[in-house]
Amino acid sequence: MKVRVAVNGYGTIGKRVADAVAKQPDMELVGVTKTRPNFEALRAQAKGYPLYLAGGGNREAFAAAGLSVAGTVDELLRKVDVVVDASPDKVGRENRTLYDAAGLRAVFQGGEKPEIAEASFNALGNYTTGRGKRFLRVVSCNTTGLARAAHVLRSTWGVDHWEATLIRRGADPAESKKGPINGILPTFRLPSHHGPDVRTIFPDLSIATTAVVVPTTLMHVHVNHVRLTKAPQDAHEVIATFRRTPRFRLFAAWEQVEGTPQVMEYARNRGLGFSDMMENVLWEDGIRLDGRDLYFFQAIHQESIVVPENVDAIRAMFDLAKDGPESIARTDQSLGLPGP
Ligand code: NAD
Repeated sequence: MKVRVAVNGYGTIGKRVADAVAKQPDMELVGVTKTRPNFEALRAQAKGYPLYLAGGGNREAFAAAGLSVAGTVDELLRKVDVVVDASPDKVGRENRTLYDAAGLRAVFQGGEKPEIAEASFNALGNYTTGRGKRFLRVVSCNTTGLARAAHVLRSTWGVDHWEATLIRRGADPAESKKGPINGILPTFRLPSHHGPDVRTIFPDLSIATTAVVVPTTLMHVHVNHVRLTKAPQDAHEVIATFRRTPRFRLFAAWEQVEGTPQVMEYARNRGLGFSDMMENVLWEDGIRLDGRDLYFFQAIHQESIVVPENVDAIRAMFDLAKDGPESIARTDQSLGLPGP
């Protein structure tokens, strides 16, 4: 028996999650929703994903574009076991009433408040918490990156306190109405909301975050200073520990990956779907240890890092894997992500 999945909201995140679900042997992608015909709807049709109308979309507009529509979102919801809501920030909150009415399970995204779900989710961080839940929220791209790293640091050496500055991309590559296109915008909420969001996964983690937004579309970069509880022997031990954790890609100096441009060029060369980079990216040269004080940079591909986590969230809800590591291994293998 496969778990039948709908994706409601077929944008940056939704189209990637749809592809990922379609690759899982234990899941079936029943359909995706669109509000308006556009190139993404055309691509969904080309991939054989049945298209359903959501958010007031009208059938005539799709017919005029030569796109066939299988029904409305309400009809789609009657055919599935779970819906992944990848609609814009705060729209998921409105959609939840549809899922409630249909008696469905749902996975929400990080643009929604934590209260939308029974628990916030990160596969490395708290897979077990997600088990059997009806509503889960996969935390945002930045929080996913921090939570993965927190899992490694906490479980190996312990974390006394963590200070992180998030250098955030101004917009996704396809967004032409956001910015800045010049300048650096400090986030005046101090500390930023990301620290409390990480604590939805690790409630007792001492972490304070600050953020600035910069004119780039490629990736976010986190600048981290962590006071560990126990000192690692040396930086090599830290590198080796990250290297043996799934969903981390460490670049060695000889690879000549100086920053996010080369990371995304590597991703384009590697050629996974959408040229994505779903791993936390660390530079070996960007890891320094001074006693218990660890400094490291990590880059986060905002468009794709949460994709494997959505798959694992579904698996946790339906208890389709023995544990988190098994689910992660199965997800990563199906997506073509190299194991540790
Ligand atoms: P997006 O704008 O690219 O895609 C959202 C899609 O939902 C669009 O296709 C839109 O037409 C559609 N939509 C609008 N109203 C709808 C409705 N009522 N019902 C169904 N669909 C509707 O947005 P996104 O970047 O994919 O973000 C989706 C969620 O994922 C948000 O919660 C966001 O915070 C989160 N997220 C985004 C990123 C990122 O960097 N883009 C990263 C991690 C998490």
